[in-house]
Amino acid sequence: IPRNPPPTLHQPELWTGIFNDFICKCLIKDFELRPNVLDLLQHVFLQQIRGKEKVLQKHLMEHIDLNQQLGNIEKTSNMNSFTDVEEVDDLATLEVLDENTVADNLQGRYAKDQIYTYVGDILIAVNPFHPMDIYTPEHTKKYLGAERKANPPHIFAVADIAYQSGVSDSTDQCIVISGESGAGKTESAHLLVQQLTFLGKANNRELQEKILLVNSLVEAFGNATTAINDNSSRFGKYLEMKFTSGGTVVGAKISEYLLEKSRVIHQAAGERNFHIFYYMYAGLAERRKLAHYKLSDSKTPKYLFNEHVKLGPDIVSNASYKEQFDAVEQCFKVIGFTLEELGSVYSTLAAILISGDLEFAAVASEHQTDKSEISNIPVLENVASLLCIRCDELQEALTSHCVVARGETIIRPNTVEKATEVRDAMGKALYGRLFSWIVNRINALLIDPLNICGDNSLNIGILDIFGFENFKRNSFEQLCINIANEQIQFYFNQHIFTWEQDEYLNEEVDVRMIEYEDNRPLLDMFLQKPMGLLSLLDEESRFPQATDQTLVEKFEVNLKSKHFWRPMRVDLGFGINHYAGKVIYNASGFLAKNRDMLPADIVLLLRSSENLLISKLVTHPLTKTGYITRSLTTFIETQSCADIFPILNYFSMREATHHPRETTNMRTQTVSSYFRYSLMDLLSKMVSGQPHFVRCIKPNNDRQAHRFDQEKVVVQLRYTGVLETAKIRRQGYSHRILFANFVTRYSILAFRANEEPAATPESCTAILEKAKLENWAMGKTKVFLKYFHVEHLNLVVQRAS
Ligand code: ADP
Ligand code: MG
Repeated sequence: IPRNPPPTLHQPELWTGIFNDFICKCLIKDFELRPNVLDLLQHVFLQQIRGKEKVLQKHLMEHIDLNQQLGNIEKTSNMNSFTDVEEVDDLATLEVLDENTVADNLQGRYAKDQIYTYVGDILIAVNPFHPMDIYTPEHTKKYLGAERKANPPHIFAVADIAYQSGVSDSTDQCIVISGESGAGKTESAHLLVQQLTFLGKANNRELQEKILLVNSLVEAFGNATTAINDNSSRFGKYLEMKFTSGGTVVGAKISEYLLEKSRVIHQAAGERNFHIFYYMYAGLAERRKLAHYKLSDSKTPKYLFNEHVKLGPDIVSNASYKEQFDAVEQCFKVIGFTLEELGSVYSTLAAILISGDLEFAAVASEHQTDKSEISNIPVLENVASLLCIRCDELQEALTSHCVVARGETIIRPNTVEKATEVRDAMGKALYGRLFSWIVNRINALLIDPLNICGDNSLNIGILDIFGFENFKRNSFEQLCINIANEQIQFYFNQHIFTWEQDEYLNEEVDVRMIEYEDNRPLLDMFLQKPMGLLSLLDEESRFPQATDQTLVEKFEVNLKSKHFWRPMRVDLGFGINHYAGKVIYNASGFLAKNRDMLPADIVLLLRSSENLLISKLVTHPLTKTGYITRSLTTFIETQSCADIFPILNYFSMREATHHPRETTNMRTQTVSSYFRYSLMDLLSKMVSGQPHFVRCIKPNNDRQAHRFDQEKVVVQLRYTGVLETAKIRRQGYSHRILFANFVTRYSILAFRANEEPAATPESCTAILEKAKLENWAMGKTKVFLKYFHVEHLNLVVQRAS
C-alpha cells in the first residue's frame, strides 16, 4: 500500500486508488474478504482519510492481519463476533444503541489503544493503565483549533472546544471530570491544564511554568496511596484558569474541597498517609536534616505506622521519594514561596508527625481520678520547639480545658482519652489549615504581574473531584464524597436531560422524551432541612450525650426514604442506595468526625506561636465560604436541595449588591454544615459557566493495561448515564442559536454580501437548505442544530470567505 511519497490529504482520488488496489490484492491473494469486513474497511477508510496517512495504513495493515487470522481459524463461520464491532468515534452515531453495543464499541477501541470516544459532545476516557504516546507536542499542535472530525477523539479536543467557545462567545467554561477512584480523572485534569496553557499562549513564560507546576505541588500534600489508586486525590479540586478576553492566560486559582484530614492520624490497612510525609522523610534524610526537624531515622512516627509502613530503607532511602521531595521543593521555589516559608512548612509537618507520638498516662490524685499527664516529655519538648510555643503551655492545653461558667473560668482536667482526642484534633487541624494556606498562597502567587490592566474576562474551570467510593468499610468521609458525587450527577442530569427537554418544550421543538434515573429524591434525603440526613447528623452532634448508636437510631426513625435501610447484623451500620450502587456505611466515629472540635485552648496557644506561619494558620478562621453573607447563609439553611438552582440565582444577585462579609466562626461549625456550603460554592461556580463533561471509565480493578472487564464497564456506563446521554445526544440538538446570531454568522451562504436578511425562521431555513443540511429543527426563537451541522456550516463559511 504505502507509496513513496504517500498522497497528501488534498488528493482523495489517489487514496481511492490505493483503497481499490488494496481490495484487489486481498482478492488476488484469496483472502476471504467478507462483505462486513469490506464495510468496516470502507468505514475506517472514510474516517481516516481526513486524518493522517500513517494512521490509515496502520489500520489497514491491522485489518489484513485480522482478516487473515479469522480466515485461518474459521473459514466458513458466521462473523457475529466481528460484525458486532463496528467501532465509531462517536457513540451517538451508533445505529443500535444498547449497553452491550456501547461496551463492545469501547472494548474494540480500547484493544487498539483508542482510549477516547465521544458521546455527542461528551468525552469518554477509558484508563489505559500504561503510558501513551498521544500527548506529544505534535498532538498538542494537531488539536489546535482543529475541526473535531479531523482527528480521533482526544482530551486535547475538549480543551480546544472549551477554549474556542470561551473566547468566541465570551462565556466562562467549566470542564467537569467524573469517574470512580482510579479511573483517570486527575491525569485528565493535568492534560487539560497542559493543553489550555498552551492554547493560552502566555507571553509570560514564567507564569506558564508556574501553572503547570501547581498540580504536582498540591498533589504532594493532597494525594495518598490507597487500596485502589497509588496516587489517589484525597480532596476535591476546582482549578480555574484565567484568560484575557483575547484568550491569553493570565493566572490560575485553585479551590479545594473536603480534604480527608483524618488520614493524617489514621490510615486503613494497606493505605498510606499523604505523600508529602514520605517525601519529606527521604528528602531530609538525604540532606542530613532529619535531626534539625527533630525527626528520628529509625523509629516510625505513629501517624505513619501501619502494618505496611515502617521507617527503614524503603522510606528513608527511597530514591523516588527523594526525587519527589526535590521536585516539590523546586515547585515551591518556582511558584514563589520564600525559603523561610518552606522551613515553616517543614516544621509544621514535622510537628504534626511527632505530636502523634505524645503519650498520656492517667494520674490518680485524691480528688480526681480522671486526670492525665504526658508520659514522654522529650517528645512534648520537640513538638513545642517545632511549633515555637511554650512546652508547659502545650502540656496544659492538651491535658486540661477551660470552661466558662457563670462568668468564671474553671480549668478542668482531660482524661487520657480526651487528651488523646485533643492531640489528634490538633494534628488534623494543623494539616488541614496548612493545606489551605498553601493553596491560598499559590493563588496569590499565580496572578500575572504583567497583566497590569487586570483583564481576566474569561475563566475556564476544571473540576477534578473524588469519584464515588464503596469500600469494605465506609465511614463519614465516604459519605461526604458520595453525596458530592450525587450532587454532580444531579447537575449532569439537569444539564443533559432536564434543561435540554425544558428548552425543547419552551421552543415547541418535538423530540421524544428520554427517561433517566433522577437522583433528586436521594439528594433531598441528604440535604433537606430539618429532616435530611445531614441535618439529623448536625442536630445529634449538638447533644453532648449523643452516641453513634443514637445517631443511627435517629436516622432510622426519621429518614422515610426507600433509599435508606438498616442492614441486619451490622453494628452501627446503615445502607444507602446511591445512584451508583448500594453502599453500607459504618457510623462509628461519625459524631466525632462531624464535630471536628479543636479546643479553644489549643487555638489560643498556637496563636501565640513565634512562628508567623503557625500563628497565621489559627488566626483567621478559614472562610472559604467567606463571600456568602450571613443573611444568605440563613437563607440557604432553610432551603432543601430541590431549590438549589433558584438559590444560586439569588446568590449571584446578592453578591453583586452586598459587600462580602465573613461568616460565622468556622470553629463552631460542623464538618457537615461546612461541607454543605462547599457544595453550594462549587455548584455556583459550575452553573455560571458552559459545562463540558469528561467521563472517565476504569476498565478493570487490577490496574492492568489491555484488560477490559465488560461487566465492570457496563456498570459504570449505567450509573454515569452514558447510554441515556448517547440517546439524547443523537436525538437532541447540542447547539441552539438565536435567529439573529445565526443569520449574522451564516447569511453569506444564501444571501449576497450587501444584503441584510431579517432574523426570521425563513432566512434561517434558506441558509440551512442552501447548505444542504437535514434533520435540524426550528424553534420559536432559535435554530436547533446537531453539533456536526455547526461544524459543517463553519467549514463552508470558511471556504466561502
Ligand atoms: P483518579 O484521579 O480518577 O482517581 P488517576 O488520574 O489518579 O485516577 O489515575 C490513576 C492511574 O491511572 C494513574 O496514576 C496512571 O497510572 C493511570 N492513568 C490514568 N490516565 C492515564 C492516561 N491518560 N495515560 C496513562 N495512564 C493513565
Ligand atoms: Mg484523582
